[in-house]
This record gives sequence, C-alpha cells and structure tokens, in this order.
Amino acid sequence: MPTRSMPDKIREAAVAARGFMPTNEGDALWVAAQEASADVPGLAYLEIGSYCGKSTVWLGAAAQANATVLFALDHHRGSEENQAGWEHHDADLVDPRIGRLDTLPTFRDTIYHAGLDDSVVAVVGDSPTVGRFWKTPLAFLFIDGGHGSEPAHRDYETWTPHIAAGGTLCIHDVFPDPADGGRPPYEIYLRALDDGFVERRAVGSLRVLTR
Ligand code: SAH
Ligand code: MG
Repeated sequence: MPTRSMPDKIREAAVAARGFMPTNEGDALWVAAQEASADVPGLAYLEIGSYCGKSTVWLGAAAQANATVLFALDHHRGSEENQAGWEHHDADLVDPRIGRLDTLPTFRDTIYHAGLDDSVVAVVGDSPTVGRFWKTPLAFLFIDGGHGSEPAHRDYETWTPHIAAGGTLCIHDVFPDPADGGRPPYEIYLRALDDGFVERRAVGSLRVLTR
C-alpha cells in the first residue's frame, strides 16, 4: 500500500473543482493510481471523460507523485446528459459563438490552478477516434466518458486492451441497482469481471479492478 498522501493544496483544488466526482471516490481514485504505479512502474495513466477537470486533479496529482503523466481525454463538447434540456446541463459552459458546450477553458483553468500543467496532458478529441491510433501501454485507465450503451461499451473495447498486465481499470457510475442510475457502466464492469479483471475495491459508484 502507498504510504504517501495527496498534497493538501491539490486535494483542496480537486474538492473545489466543478464536476461529478464525490470526494470519497476522488480520494479512492488517487489511491488506486498510486497502487497502479507501484504495480506497473513508469507507465502512463489515461482518463476518458474529464469534463471540467475534477477527477483529473486527483489522478494528475497521483501521476505527478509518480513522475508519470495522465492523458486526459475528452472532446469537451459534453455527453448527452450535459446538453441543453438534460439533467446535468450548465448553461454557462456553452460557447455563445457556436451555441455548443465547451468545457476546455474551465478544464485548463482547473489544471493550471492545481499546479498540474506538467503532469496532465489534455487529449482533445473523440474517444474512439483517438483510440484507433493509440499504441501506448497504460498503468491505469479510468472510464467516465459517454454513459450510453454504445459509447460505454465502445470505450471498454477500445481502451482496456491498452492496460498493461498488472495494471488498473477504474469504472465510474457503476450502479448494481437500476433505481440508482443507468445500466451501461454496470454492464462494462460485469464484462471486465468476465474478461478476467479482478475487483480490488468498490467505493460509492467507483469500481477498482486489476488486470
Ligand atoms: N470525470 C468528470 C466527469 C466526466 S462527464 C468529473 O470528475 O467531473 C463525461 C465527459 O465525457 C464529458 O465531459 C463528455 O464531453 C465526455 N465524453 C462523452 N463522450 C465522449 C467521446 N466520445 N469522446 C470524448 N469525450 C467524451
Ligand atoms: Mg462519472
């Protein structure tokens, strides 16, 4: 188990950041990434679905502590549920010139003020498109992108093959009870177990698995 703890100032930035990551689950992400670097030293981390950079701060801090980098992948146009008229829409994140969501400026601000510009590499693009060209093995993968059936299963299929042996897979918004939330993240969690990933921990809706 890692003995290091997250620097207070960075953790405060994570807690204060805008987004969809409860503090106890963010802390669990930090621990999981620390463990991933202990198990598979030197390799990079990748996050799918950064939004305004909240989960990114916990993971970027872990990358910084382990002298590696976090690739933070998002097209920054929001998921279905972030669009106008949906539950998780924030009108002030819309770029008025084009009438579309743009979370990249807020993301950059979050990462800059957390002091993580050197440890977080933003990858701005569509997940399956980037995935088509990706070759780099990963110590750690966090899936929190599109939560519909097609995007969630596609992220699983596209990205989990890049996790190195002994590396870590985290999945967010896993709800075994349908009353608590959508099915697809739970379905890809079941797929991971079926594919031989071993569950290490569950914290809220976060699942931590090892390849
Ligand atoms: N982890 C974030 C929340 C992510 S919300 C936090 O801690 O707050 C989901 C994000 O996935 C959105 O920002 C959306 O733009 C992104 N997303 C959805 N589908 C995507 C795709 N196909 N490619 C890249 N990003 C995608
Ligand atoms: Mg989430």
